[in-house]
Amino acid sequence: MNLNSQAQTPKFLDIVRRSIGDDWVHTADATVSRYGETTLPGSDNPPPAVVYPGSVDEVVAIVNAANETGTQLFPISNGNNISQGSRAPVGANQIVVDLGRRMNRILDFNEDMGIATVEPGVSYQQMHDELVRRGDRFMVDVTSGPPAGSVLGNALDKGAGYTPYADHFAMTCGMEIVLGNGQRLRTGDGALETARNWHMSKYSYGPYLDGLFVQSNYGIVTQAGFWLMPKPPAIRSFAFTFDNDDDLGDIVAAIRPLRMSGFVPTMMRLCNDLWLLASETSHPSYVSGRSITDDERKDLQRAHNLGSWTVSGAFYGASDAQIAPMVERVRSHFASLGRGRYISHEEAMESPTLASAVAAYAGVPSVHEMKQLAWRPGGGMASFTPGVPMDRDLVLQSSRKSREILRSHGLEYLKMYVCGPRFARGLHHLLWNRTVEAEDRAADQAYKALAAAYTDLGLQVGRSPIRYQDFHMSLLGDATRKTCEAIKDVLDPRGIIAPGRYGIGRAATA
Ligand SMILES: Cc1cc2nc3c(=O)[nH]c(=O)nc-3n(C[C@H](O)[C@H](O)[C@H](O)COP(=O)(O)OP(=O)(O)OC[C@H]3O[C@@H](n4cnc5c(N)ncnc54)[C@H](O)[C@@H]3O)c2cc1C
Repeated sequence: MNLNSQAQTPKFLDIVRRSIGDDWVHTADATVSRYGETTLPGSDNPPPAVVYPGSVDEVVAIVNAANETGTQLFPISNGNNISQGSRAPVGANQIVVDLGRRMNRILDFNEDMGIATVEPGVSYQQMHDELVRRGDRFMVDVTSGPPAGSVLGNALDKGAGYTPYADHFAMTCGMEIVLGNGQRLRTGDGALETARNWHMSKYSYGPYLDGLFVQSNYGIVTQAGFWLMPKPPAIRSFAFTFDNDDDLGDIVAAIRPLRMSGFVPTMMRLCNDLWLLASETSHPSYVSGRSITDDERKDLQRAHNLGSWTVSGAFYGASDAQIAPMVERVRSHFASLGRGRYISHEEAMESPTLASAVAAYAGVPSVHEMKQLAWRPGGGMASFTPGVPMDRDLVLQSSRKSREILRSHGLEYLKMYVCGPRFARGLHHLLWNRTVEAEDRAADQAYKALAAAYTDLGLQVGRSPIRYQDFHMSLLGDATRKTCEAIKDVLDPRGIIAPGRYGIGRAATA
């Protein structure tokens, strides 16, 4: 049988209609074109249909129908993967399985242990609202992306936030998965009939299987347990802003001991001027093909009272008074650099862009950074996400390279380093006008030039827009690629779950 030819689709849809009901199989042009939209370079990729399962049994039925007919699927939780592919499938003719529409319940909430068991559709906003409703005792670690994003979907893509619970996959414990072969798997203690520790003990007997389902395409995850951080009585932020682009290296060197010692408990956000200001204002002099000048950038910095780089973090404690000496210590630490301006918690709360960072440290979702999409007209946005050691020279060298590459492609440099003790995720947002063909091409070329430059530096991305997943996988060694393919062959022998996602399996092309 010709796997994933469009000819299989009607048969697949007939079987699925019979098992989950007509109402939950959509093929209208308006629907499929909406699901095919991305903010990435190149054309959209509408699926032939979207199906909406309401339970794990219905997911099994969909996977079985796909195996029977040789149809490829593309599972999403809430599909808010903006800047990496949104809801669009990675290959041609893949049917989108939208789990979030109907499987969006918080299945269990253990208030003693701080554990929520969630279905794929539970969003950051929903989780936050529920925690507030239940007495505001816990907080969920949020992203600075869309509040409608799925807690589970983000964790499966190795997403991250800003509190001590920032590593979202690390905060999952115990998953339920429908494998590509149709089998239902519960990881860890979930495999026991009488499990009591499923969402409490990460490393029970046997191999740790959960990691197989992160940034892969071996199964469809239908629920997981998430650990939640107790909400502290007081949260106080601090920030410092620095005037010069080349202050970056010294700032990174100053952050490292604060994070290595654990003195600052949050991730530290180190953002450049345009990362912050593109959420507050649009391009002051947009002309297609031309990047903003340094003079225009300085004007914007003055108008918003922010420098070239602004670093922030937060302390947690019993009261504001208890936290005050910690803020004083961090102030004198940064003062030793001999430059930089301190921004107090109160001042930060007056600035929408800094206040949205404070919200993230407090586990409150915000739409603020989404405004970056309006920096230029035409809605193009792609994330480039290399990691870099917290090394003064390497950070400075790679940052200068990024600025140069983006400028030479007529684009702006927007950058946030999310700083841990030894490593920072260096998020770039490429923004451009998708309706201008030359700009769309320039964005694609800029992404590829950045990827090549960072590869030369020995630095790999943390995740990637669907369009570049094959490329990033091709950089990994032969043994890694063969192992990923071998696992795919066992867990999804007919290759029905998102082949091509993360460069595993072969996606059909249109
Ligand atoms: C301005 C801006 C700021 C951002 N900031 C951050 C940030 O701070 N941190 C961060 O991590 N991200 C950030 N993002 C990226 C992105 O928006 C988030 O990752 C978003 O939460 C993903 O949405 P989702 O979980 O609904 O995606 P989904 O599309 O549902 O999931 C992501 C991918 O995982 C796979 N997947 C999802 N669910 C399943 C499942 N149940 N089974 C199998 N595979 C599945 C799918 O292939 C899907 O493409 C930002 C984006 C923007 C635009």
